[in-house]
Amino acid sequence: MFIQPTTLIEALEAKRQFGSAAAFLAGGTDLVVLINHGRMPARVFIDLSHIEGLSQIQCFAADQCADDPLTRDFDAAKVFVCGPTTTFAQLARLPVRALAEAARSVGGPQIRNRGTIAGNLATASPAGDGSTALLALDGRVEVQNLYGSRVIALREFFLDYRKTALAPDEMIVRVAFPATWLTGWRKLGKRGAMNISTVCCAVGISDSRRVHIAFGSVGPYPLRAEQTANYLTEALRGDPAAFGDPAVQKHAVELAQAEVRPIDDFRASADYRRAMSGTLLQKVMRQLAEELTPTTSAIV
Ligand SMILES: Cc1cc2nc3c(=O)[nH]c(=O)nc-3n(C[C@H](O)[C@H](O)[C@H](O)COP(=O)(O)OP(=O)(O)OC[C@H]3O[C@@H](n4cnc5c(N)ncnc54)[C@H](O)[C@@H]3O)c2cc1C
Repeated sequence: MFIQPTTLIEALEAKRQFGSAAAFLAGGTDLVVLINHGRMPARVFIDLSHIEGLSQIQCFAADQCADDPLTRDFDAAKVFVCGPTTTFAQLARLPVRALAEAARSVGGPQIRNRGTIAGNLATASPAGDGSTALLALDGRVEVQNLYGSRVIALREFFLDYRKTALAPDEMIVRVAFPATWLTGWRKLGKRGAMNISTVCCAVGISDSRRVHIAFGSVGPYPLRAEQTANYLTEALRGDPAAFGDPAVQKHAVELAQAEVRPIDDFRASADYRRAMSGTLLQKVMRQLAEELTPTTSAIV
């Protein structure tokens, strides 16, 4: 069955009625692949494309965020809030480097024009590029059912391989992430385009210099590297030039390699993925080091 609601309430009502037998259809870039492979359990599709306003992006200053549980206490001067059907093509234009570069690295132009941020999160692929970047931004989602809404921090959203904290009647209705953090991104894959990652790494540094790190394709779902992030937060608070220090980089690489949980598969061995996790983190650190300690420009 194919349902085309024109309001959010109609979409949520359909999901309440059919539960796990129904799937929201956003860009269809994951769903259609599953259908083609005969691996889609849902028999009801709720198309989100006729509901207005679901792909809006808004930016709020911190003082506008205090009353909204989705946006409050973000440790950022500004916060972006995206609708669920915001596409990768839209995200690629945002001034948040990790997310924009992750979005630019997804598939080809057609996939980026159709694939959405909520679809990437709900699919919960270990290789989800948008999901990995948003984890390093300590992003949050607002999920809603017919009876109300709740906010889930993305660090608590991914539960297991393609399993999330979403209940069968809930829909992701908003995604929030900081607009002012310093961020970096690296992705390693077999080709330059249409490329699922072998490993990807995102780093976010909050306005108060707390470090957040996430890896994709090295675990059952996109992973945060908490110990590595804690170590780098301390190092950075002690010395703004810490990211450029080879000894700090070396220790961070060792910690990250111990935190990732890769497996062998047809794309790469676990050992290679573990090694590359460290390499990508080091590359991001080197890039961020320059921005954390900019060289003083000559006074004219
Ligand atoms: C050729 C190709 C290349 C690709 N390359 C990449 C890549 O490089 N990197 C990458 O990360 N991904 C890649 N993908 C995967 C895909 O494009 C993304 O995961 C995309 O973000 C999914 O979004 P969608 O809107 O198409 O989701 P859909 O296919 O419409 O839905 C996916 C899942 O999310 C659920 N869903 C959708 N919206 C919501 C919502 N608002 N609330 C709750 N559940 C929802 C659906 O019910 C479904 O279970 C590729 C796919 C293809 C076909």
